[in-house]
Amino acid sequence: MALINEHFLKLRGNYLFSDIAKRVNAFKVTHPEARLIRLGIGDVTRPLPPACIEAMHRAVDEMASADTFHGYGPEQGYDFLINAIIKHDFAPHGISLSASEVFISDGAKSDTGNIGELLRWDNSMAITDPVYPVYVDSNIMCGRSGVLGEDGKWSNVTYLPCTAENGFVPAIPDHRVDLIYLCYPNNPTGTTLTHAQLKRWVDYALANDTLIIFDAAYEAFITEDDVPHSIYEIRGAKKVAIEIRSFSKTAGFTGVRCGYTVVPKEVTAATLEGERIPLNPLWNRRQCTKFNGTSYITQRGAEAVYSPEGQRQVKDTIAYYHDNAKLMLDGLQKAGFQVFGGVNAPYLWVKAPDGMTSWKFFERLLYEANVVTTPGVGFGPSGEGYIRLTAFGTHEDCAEAMERICKWA
Ligand code: PLP
Repeated sequence: MALINEHFLKLRGNYLFSDIAKRVNAFKVTHPEARLIRLGIGDVTRPLPPACIEAMHRAVDEMASADTFHGYGPEQGYDFLINAIIKHDFAPHGISLSASEVFISDGAKSDTGNIGELLRWDNSMAITDPVYPVYVDSNIMCGRSGVLGEDGKWSNVTYLPCTAENGFVPAIPDHRVDLIYLCYPNNPTGTTLTHAQLKRWVDYALANDTLIIFDAAYEAFITEDDVPHSIYEIRGAKKVAIEIRSFSKTAGFTGVRCGYTVVPKEVTAATLEGERIPLNPLWNRRQCTKFNGTSYITQRGAEAVYSPEGQRQVKDTIAYYHDNAKLMLDGLQKAGFQVFGGVNAPYLWVKAPDGMTSWKFFERLLYEANVVTTPGVGFGPSGEGYIRLTAFGTHEDCAEAMERICKWA
């Protein structure tokens, strides 16, 4: 008899988005005539940049001929993409990386979920709260999170509340943790940290021998000067941080699938005896064993993001979403809502009026404005009393949703 990994049974029954889908479906059954506007799930709506499409067409044609066909590629990714990443995403910020420090993947979800395999199950960990659910759920699966308390918190997880009261800047823990996940620009709150604020985290990690998993999936949305694009802009970060990025929101690759993870040569973790082990060769071994590389066609598409045309096209797409975010931010503020984010991120984090819970606010907007949002409490206890809106819809939908919500307010 095969015994299961019982940690899977601890996962909470309903994944947030299936819970939302159920409620939306129930609404649709009773209101078949209503036109719903969906500002809930964080998927993009703009098509791929033409430069990526053309590059992928060319790559498909290469597959048609024995001379140019590509079979298994390097598990770590092709040099043409890795070199473009280093040249465009890091060198302009004064960060030098070697090609063997960058691992191409099929997206940031897999990497944020898989990276924990390098670490013992009994490491202590911290997350900002609210948080992208993958960090917590992947740690539940390996038993690292402990047991769920009645307050909705896991016993081995330090929760760092991010709320309007602290300006969404998580307090440095008053104790040491082995592992911390940071995501900036942040999903779900849409907020960021300044250089000085992120430096406090790097300094904490250096002083406490903590590993930081830094998720920069929304880096392309940064507009303000004082917001770091990479954690490696902070001195010493290469010793303590792994950075994960994605082409999903940058270039519309949510359905194509490509991302990458930077594991600097300097970053280490310890054996029980205290021997320092570099994580780079471990991640390389993990990927070579369990991952057979991102497809050649996809990587050629991702490379085209860095071509001059690709860069222009990506900028236009991001500007489209930024315009949506601005329209939503202005509209909601005028209607008297307390709103956060939306400047360096495609997410707006809206405080529910009159002390309403997240789910109540969600239901009222669904039934009374026919707008689908995401209840903040689904991202963690400190998300209670908020909802998340995404700026990934069309201009028309975003504008109409704002009109409806403002009228409702
Ligand atoms: N990290 C964060 C914070 C996200 O919000 C998302 C997707 O919504 C991801 C990672 C997943 O990105 P990918 O599409 O590259 O798997």
